[in-house]
Amino acid sequence: MNEVKEPNKKPLLYYYFLALLVIFLFNFLVFPQMVAPRVREIDYGTFMTMTEDHKIDQVQLESNQIVFSDKDGNLYKTGLMDDPNLVERLHDANVTFASQIVQQLSPFANFLLSWVLPIAIFYFLGRMLNRRMMKNLGGDGMMFNMGKSNAKVYVPSETGIKFADVAGEEEAKENLQEIVNYLHDPTKYQKIGAKMPKGVLLVGPPGTGKTMLAKAVAGEAGVPFFSISGSEFVEMFVGMGASKVRDLFRQAKEKAPCIVFIDEIDAIGKKRDGNFGGNDEREQTLNQLLTEMDGFEGTNGVIILAATNRPESLDPALTRPGRFDRRVPVELPDLQGRESILKVHAKKIKTEANIDYGKIARMASGASGAELANIVNEAALRAIRDGRDAASQADLEESIEVVIAGYQKKNAILTDAEKKVVAFHEVGHALVAALQNHSAPVQKITIIPRTSGALGYTMQVDEGNHYLYTKEEMENKIATFTGGRAAEEVVFGSVTTGASNDIEQATKMARAMISRYGMSDNFDMVALETVTNQYLGGDASLACSADTQTEIDKEVVALVKKQHEKAVELLKANRAKLDEIAQYLYQKETITGEEFMEILNRK
Ligand code: ADP
Ligand code: ZN
Repeated sequence: MNEVKEPNKKPLLYYYFLALLVIFLFNFLVFPQMVAPRVREIDYGTFMTMTEDHKIDQVQLESNQIVFSDKDGNLYKTGLMDDPNLVERLHDANVTFASQIVQQLSPFANFLLSWVLPIAIFYFLGRMLNRRMMKNLGGDGMMFNMGKSNAKVYVPSETGIKFADVAGEEEAKENLQEIVNYLHDPTKYQKIGAKMPKGVLLVGPPGTGKTMLAKAVAGEAGVPFFSISGSEFVEMFVGMGASKVRDLFRQAKEKAPCIVFIDEIDAIGKKRDGNFGGNDEREQTLNQLLTEMDGFEGTNGVIILAATNRPESLDPALTRPGRFDRRVPVELPDLQGRESILKVHAKKIKTEANIDYGKIARMASGASGAELANIVNEAALRAIRDGRDAASQADLEESIEVVIAGYQKKNAILTDAEKKVVAFHEVGHALVAALQNHSAPVQKITIIPRTSGALGYTMQVDEGNHYLYTKEEMENKIATFTGGRAAEEVVFGSVTTGASNDIEQATKMARAMISRYGMSDNFDMVALETVTNQYLGGDASLACSADTQTEIDKEVVALVKKQHEKAVELLKANRAKLDEIAQYLYQKETITGEEFMEILNRK
C-alpha cells in the first residue's frame, strides 16, 4: 500500500525558531571574536616598562582602559591607573595618540555581516528545504499549520492489504464484509433505505490484527484510508485535539467514500467521570468527535473504524446508536487461526520444504497474531545467523521460546545447586499436572535461563478450544501451580523465591472461583467481583462489603492450601518418578512431553 503522508509542518516552525536562535548566538558570541583582532591584556607595569623602552607605537586612552600597539603592530590593552604624568611620559616616548587603533568595520558593513547575511542564508536554506518537502508531498504547502490532524492519507494501490492477508478472524471478516459491500455499491443499500453504521468498534487484545483488518476493509473496497491514533489527538494545548478532529473529518469528507481508522480510541473516548479533576482537553476532543459523527449523514460514505482493547472504559455516548454502534470482536487466534497466520507470514520468508505448521501452532498456544509474525521473523533471523538460507522447523520452534520467553542467556548464571532446584521445581509442576490428568502435561521443559529473567521455561500443551472448566479442573490447575513449590519442599525441605509467579496465578484463580464463578458453598451464585479490564490482564474490582472481603480472603487461603497439600501428597507418593525425571532434566536441560511420559509410564 502506498503511504502518502500529509505534510507535517511542525518541524518548519521549529526550524525558524532555531534559525533565530543561531543568529543571536552568532552575533553575540562568535561574530565579535571573528571580526575583532586579538588584543592581549597586560599589566600596567609592563605597559610602563614598554613606554620607557620606546616600544610603543600608538596609544588610545579610553575612559576605562588603555589600548596600544607596539612597533610590530601587536595590540595590547591594560587597565587605567591614577597616573597624572602618563600623557607626558608617553609624549616623551614619541608615541602617537590615536583615536581608533582597533580597526572597526564601518557600521553599515557590520550590520550587513552580522544581521543580513545570516538571515539571508537561513532564508534560502529554509526555502530549499521547504521546496523539497513540498515536492515530496506533491501538495500545496502552508507555512503554519498547528492543530491540523496528522492523519496519514493512504491512497489505495494494487498491492493494498486484503482480507486474504489477515489470517484467522473469520467472524470479524464476515462482519466487515458488509461494509465493503456497501462501499462498493451504496445505491443497493439506499434503495431499501438501509443505513450503514457510521462507526464500527474493533475490540480485542493487542496484536490481533485490528489495524490490519481496518486496512483490509479499505483495500477490499478500494477506498482511501485515513488513520490516526487516539493518543495523537491529546495535545498539550486545550482545543488542539478538537481542531484536529474537525480537520480530520474535513479531509475525510473530501475523499469520501473512505475509511477513517482511529486506533486506541480509549485515549480520547474514556468515560467522562471527572475522576482526575476532569481532563478538559480530552473531553473537548471527545465532544468534537461526537459532534462530527452526528453531523454527517450515514449516506455520505465516510465509515469510521476504531480499535480498542478496553471497550468497557469507553464513554457510553460513544457506543450508543448512531455512533459506534457496531462492535466486532477480534479475539486471540485459536489453533487453526494460529496455523494460518503462521503460513501467511512464512510466505514472506524462505523456509525449508517440510515444515509442520500445525505443531508450531500447538506449541505457540496463546500467542497473538503479532507474536506469531514475530516468531516467523525471528526464525528467519536465526537461519541467517547460522549461515543458512532458509528457516527450518527447529528455527521456528526455538523462535517461539525466544519471542515468548526471551533469548537464551549464554553465560549461564545458575549455580549447580540452583539448577537442581529449578529442575525439581519445573518437574514438580509437570508431574502434578500429569498425575491429575493422566496425559502429557507439557510440550517441553527447558532449564536454560532466558533474558526475560525466567530460569526455566515450560511450554504448555494447547488444550484446544476449551471454554468451560469444571470446578475440579480449576482445582487441579491450582494444584499444578503449587506443584513447583511442593517439589522444593518434598525434595529439599526448604523453599525458594522461584514460586512468586505461581503464587500469583494460583491466588488469582482461587479468587475468581470464589468471587466470580460461584464455586464456593458460602456465597452461592453471588457476584462479588466485576471484571474491569477484560483484554488487558483481566483486573477485577471487588463489589462487596468489607466483612465479605474478609470471608473471601479466608476461603481463598483455604482453597489454595488444600490444593497445595494435595500436590505435596502426590509428589511424595511418586517421589521415585520425581527424582528420575528431574535428574534427566538436570542433565539434558531439556525434556519433551513424550520423554516425560515415557519415564513416567516406565515400570
Ligand atoms: P492490533 O491493531 O490489533 O494491535 P495489528 O493489526 O497492528 O494489531 O497487528 C500487528 C501485526 O501482527 C500485523 O502487522 C501483522 O503482521 C500481525 N498480525 C496480527 N494479526 C494477524 C492476522 N490475523 N493475520 C496475519 N497477521 C497478523
Ligand atoms: Zn513455578
